[in-house]
Amino acid sequence: MQRIAVLLALTIALLIPAQLEARGIKESDIREHIAVLASDDFEGRAPGTAGEDKTINYIAEEWGSAGLSPASRNGDWFDPVPLMSYKPISDEVRFKRNRRSLRFNQKDIILVGNSTDYTKKAVPVHFAGTGLKADGSIVTDVAGKAVLMLLDVPEDVKSEFRSPRKRSAAMIADGAEAVIYITSSDDWKATLRRFRRASINLKGQRARAPIQGAISTEFAVGLVTSGGRDWDKLLAKGDGSDFNGIDLGITGEFNVSTEISQIDSANVIGKIPGRKPGNGAVLFLGHWDHFGYCGDEGDEDRICNGAVDNASGIAVLIEVAEKLARKKHDRDIYFLATTAEERGLFGAYEYARNPAFPLKDVVIALNIDTIAIAPRGAKVAIVGRGTTPLDKVVEKVARKQKRKIEETDDANAFIERQDGWALTEQGVPALMVGGSFADMELLQNFLSGPYHGVDDELTDETELGGAAEDADLHVALGKYFASTRKYKRAASGD
Ligand SMILES: [Zn+2]
Repeated sequence: MQRIAVLLALTIALLIPAQLEARGIKESDIREHIAVLASDDFEGRAPGTAGEDKTINYIAEEWGSAGLSPASRNGDWFDPVPLMSYKPISDEVRFKRNRRSLRFNQKDIILVGNSTDYTKKAVPVHFAGTGLKADGSIVTDVAGKAVLMLLDVPEDVKSEFRSPRKRSAAMIADGAEAVIYITSSDDWKATLRRFRRASINLKGQRARAPIQGAISTEFAVGLVTSGGRDWDKLLAKGDGSDFNGIDLGITGEFNVSTEISQIDSANVIGKIPGRKPGNGAVLFLGHWDHFGYCGDEGDEDRICNGAVDNASGIAVLIEVAEKLARKKHDRDIYFLATTAEERGLFGAYEYARNPAFPLKDVVIALNIDTIAIAPRGAKVAIVGRGTTPLDKVVEKVARKQKRKIEETDDANAFIERQDGWALTEQGVPALMVGGSFADMELLQNFLSGPYHGVDDELTDETELGGAAEDADLHVALGKYFASTRKYKRAASGD
């Protein structure tokens, strides 16, 4: 008897998890997709490379065999995303004060132009501090000037003003001839690597200054000092009280060569057609791209494979599509894999510019990025909490999945750093939901570790428990929001 009881208990213990696992999306299936997408063969999935072709074809094939229909504007799987690439070739710079050339020993400068050969003399050099005035507005009156701006801002500056891109965009709009970041010396090598990588724009989207670039703090100090000013005093001015920048009494002469080329990249898009058209649609998205060859020249491993960021998200999108395509739903469900997220959310911006169906018809957009972080049992965080009326509904679906909810809005720190933001800016209810943004300690470990480097690879230790659980959650969210009976939205225009 006893033995039978033990055996029975064992059998039940072994059977139950197996059955549960069988119903949900399997870690091993997610792992298989990541193994392909993050393999060296895919070369780090940089836009415009052979790695792109392999990646977008893999996604289209997987979605096709899952039963999705192609849904691009051309009727195939691929929506073109034209990108412009600006690669610095050489820069020669001379600075003068009262017509005398300034001599100092710094070479830490990198500049990139918006034309192939840029030459200009006598450009007044302007120190803008953080680029921010005391009231939070951005420094102005920089037309025709070469602006030096501190890349980093003090801790207490509001998040909406922290972005160097925003600060420089305002100065470019004001007519700055050059926007040059001053980087802390510790970060100089990384800055150099970033700028050498070529900067990328969505064609026709973002204005550039005639020249942009960076210098090290030492360079800036050398320049200011040899121009007869005190760096510390200057810094104090530019770091607090009302300050609109200061002309240094120095002019710059610039000769900058830049290689400019167009990259024809693509978003991948498919759909599960709904039974009741005209009721809006659910949109799942995630970025397929990563940095390609990113390690230093001469290093043995130079490929940034992007296993977690974001092969994991694409793997989950493939599995979620496969699960949802097994049944009919009321609303259309779209799946979008975007390009060039890593370079500035460009695929998502292009989608927002030319969507597959009107943006006002998006019932919910759910972005999936960097999902292989937390183990099973993580709480569910919402990036975008409080920005849509959907939090309570999402939480209800998550609780039904036996998930606990992260009640804080800490995850919103990432809201502008993910593809959903390009949609949020257009008024689309876009959220990123899941466990990897709930456990900040684990997430920070990743961000200060393998993130955006050659070590973001698939290993035996890669945690996929949370990803599988989040995949199940997305299937549940897809079913819920695609049902006109379960989720009634206000008619568009209301
Ligand atoms: Zn990334």
